[in-house]
Amino acid sequence: MKTHSNVRHKSTKAIHAGGLPNPVFGEVSVPIFQSSTFSFPSVEEGAARFSGEKPGFIYTRIGNPTTKALEDCIASLEGGFAGIATATGMAAITTTLLALLEKDSHIVSTNSVYGPTRVVLENEFSRFGVQSTFVDTSDLDKIKSAMRFNTKVVYIETPANPTMSITDIQGAAEIAHDHDAILIVDNTFASPHLQRPFEHGADIVIQSLTKFLNGHSDVVGGAIISKKEKQYNKIRSVLNLFGGTMDPHQAWLILRGVRTLPLRVEKAQENALELAKFLKQHPKVSWVQYPGLTEHPQHEIAKKQMDGFGAMICFGVKNGLEGGKTLMNHLNLITLAVSLGGVESLIEHPASMTHASIPKSDREAAGILDELVRLSVGCEAYEDLRDDLEQALKRILL
Ligand code: PLP
Repeated sequence: MKTHSNVRHKSTKAIHAGGLPNPVFGEVSVPIFQSSTFSFPSVEEGAARFSGEKPGFIYTRIGNPTTKALEDCIASLEGGFAGIATATGMAAITTTLLALLEKDSHIVSTNSVYGPTRVVLENEFSRFGVQSTFVDTSDLDKIKSAMRFNTKVVYIETPANPTMSITDIQGAAEIAHDHDAILIVDNTFASPHLQRPFEHGADIVIQSLTKFLNGHSDVVGGAIISKKEKQYNKIRSVLNLFGGTMDPHQAWLILRGVRTLPLRVEKAQENALELAKFLKQHPKVSWVQYPGLTEHPQHEIAKKQMDGFGAMICFGVKNGLEGGKTLMNHLNLITLAVSLGGVESLIEHPASMTHASIPKSDREAAGILDELVRLSVGCEAYEDLRDDLEQALKRILL
C-alpha cells in the first residue's frame, strides 16, 4: 500500500491515509500485526532502535505497525504533525494533561465537558496541586478573565458534550497564546471530517476514536494529535511510561471504520438537521440545541469553523425529567445507551448518566439540565427515526 502523501482531499485521505510503506504481499488492507515484541537482527540494531538513531519497532507498548498506520491516518485527517493512539478517549485526555500540566499549574476548561474529563481534573489532578477553572468558553471574555499567571492549558470541547455550545477556536487560541498557554481541543463531537482545530490555531487535538471515527459502536479508543514535534515527543514519552497504549486489533478495527467516516458523517448530519427541525416544531419539545439551526446562539461561529453541523442534538422535553423518561422508555428503534457517533441512533439522559458524577449545581451552571436529552443521530432512514420519536413523544402527558 502506498502512503499517498500528495492527496489533499479529506474524503480521499480517509480511505488511503495511513498505509504501510512496505506491504508484505501487496495487501490492500493494513494487516493486524498481533505481536507484542519485534526481533532485532543484531544487538547493534536493537541498541540503535532504543537510542532513536534508527527507526523500527521494539515493543507494542512503544509502537506497533498497525497502530502506527491508524496514527498516521488520524494525523493526516486532522492536519497535525503526528498522532498517538491510546486505549480509550479518556487515556488520550489524561495522558495529554499529565504531559502538559505541572505541579501547582492551572487549567481553564469548558464547563460543559464530557463528565469524566471534569471529574479527573477536580478529583485526581487536584491531588497534585493542579487548579482548574470551568467556564462557559463560548463566551471568550469568560476565558480571558479566568486566566492566571500559572495557566498552562486552555481546554475546550466544541461542540460541547452534551449542551452543543460552540467555542470560537481561533479566539480561544489567541487568549491561550497571549498567556503562553497551550490550547487543547476535544474534537470528538465534530470529527476531523467537519472540523480541524489546527486550522484555527489549536496546539493539541483529542479524539475519542470510540465515536465517529470508528463509527460502529464496537470498539473503544482515543487519539492525541500534536501540531509540533516537541509536544508530540513529550506526550509520547508519557504514554510509553504510563502505558495507556492502543492494541493492534483495536487499531485495525478503528482504521476500518475511518475509511467510511465521510460517508457516515454526511448521512448522519443530513438526518440530524431534519430531526432538529422536526423536534423544534413539536408540541412536546420545549427547546432544541443544534448548531445547524439559525437560532443556535453560536450558529455563525459554527458556520465559520465547521464544514457541517454534525450529528449530535440535545433537546428539552415538556414535563421535565418525567417527560424525558417517558420518551426514552418508549422508543423502539433509537437505542437507549450512552456513547455516540455510531451508525445506529442512540439516546441518553446526561444528568443521570454521562454527567451524573458532576454535582447538580455545577451541572446546572453548565446548562446540563435534568430535562436535557442527548441524541446521537445515526445513518438510518430519516422517516424511521422521525416516526419513532413521534410515537414516543405522543406518550408524554402534559
Ligand atoms: N470526549 C468526549 C467529548 C466524549 O464524549 C467521550 C466519551 O463519551 C470521551 C472524550 C471519552 O472517550 P472514551 O469513552 O473513548 O474514553
